[in-house]
Amino acid sequence: MMELIKLIRKNIMDLAPYSTARDEYKGEIGVYLDANESPYANGFNRYPDPYQQELKSVIARMRQVSPENVFLGNGSDEAIDLLYRIFCEPRLDQALAIRPSYGMYAVAARINDVRLIEADLTDDYQLDAEALLQAVTPRTKLIFLCSPNNPTGNLLNKREVMRVLEKFDGIVVIDEAYIDFSEDRGFVPVLNRYANLVILQTLSKAWGMAGLRVGMAFSSPEIISCMTKVKYPYNINGVAQKLAIGELLGQQLQKELQLREIISQRELLLKELKKIGYIENVYPSDANFILIKVPGATRLYHHLIEKKRIIRDRSKVFKCADTLRITVGTPGENRELVEILKNYK
Ligand SMILES: *Cc1c(COP(=O)(O)O)cnc(C)c1O
Repeated sequence: MMELIKLIRKNIMDLAPYSTARDEYKGEIGVYLDANESPYANGFNRYPDPYQQELKSVIARMRQVSPENVFLGNGSDEAIDLLYRIFCEPRLDQALAIRPSYGMYAVAARINDVRLIEADLTDDYQLDAEALLQAVTPRTKLIFLCSPNNPTGNLLNKREVMRVLEKFDGIVVIDEAYIDFSEDRGFVPVLNRYANLVILQTLSKAWGMAGLRVGMAFSSPEIISCMTKVKYPYNINGVAQKLAIGELLGQQLQKELQLREIISQRELLLKELKKIGYIENVYPSDANFILIKVPGATRLYHHLIEKKRIIRDRSKVFKCADTLRITVGTPGENRELVEILKNYK
């Protein structure tokens, strides 16, 4: 059984968070002369809610969890950085991530001076829990998994993920940035079953709000309150909070239809790409992008740039030689891309 207190750095355990003006007076009405703001209303002259209570309650309802299970960050990248800062003693502790996967786990590790060990996925980009757990040392505090994985697009095998959750005496982070593109509901429905689980999601992908910078972490109230204590008080600005609430409450049907269109376009694109002879492999996808393997991938990448179509060259990524990652666009954008690819060579 995991002991959270032993995992959290002592300086963080002992930390008394900065107390904002809004912490000291929690009433609603009155004349605010407590925060040195400008008194002249323009829609954003007041500091925003540091606890993002309204946005949190909308997201909590959407994901059927309690608001105490929700942390909001300036993108989920903020949550990744905070987890290192809370659990990993710089230069002493270690983290573990799968490879290939999202690059931010390694960048945030380097920034925090934490050694990141990477455990290889299998040749079909699957998680081998035993191999991963072999790389755990007494100093391993965090494990980063990503499902559906970026840049490969596949969901990680659930049974293997559960093995890691059950066997590892530290924090398991599952990055579900792309879960809404999948049939699978991910790990939020079983959040309460694992004390060491942190799930990352984001409004940046399926929700269409990358420009607002709102990411979520779902975890136990203990871990969430620790993240809240360490974050900057006003990490989500007031305009982003307001716009995100408006989008989540107002455009539900439209968002649902857009999501379904992206998924059906992904299926169509998968089918069309498989028909192109020179494409050696089209990997299965549970996300809004498709990884393909093409001999001379970088040459094709530059050809597409000449045609003003920008995709991502992943050729230099581990186990991804000669691969390109294509984001699913509108039906018109996808059709044109397929035409350009068919006419290549
Ligand atoms: C895009 C992406 C994110 C980034 O999310 P933000 O909320 O925009 O910071 C996180 N994880 C993965 C795997 C991603 O691909």
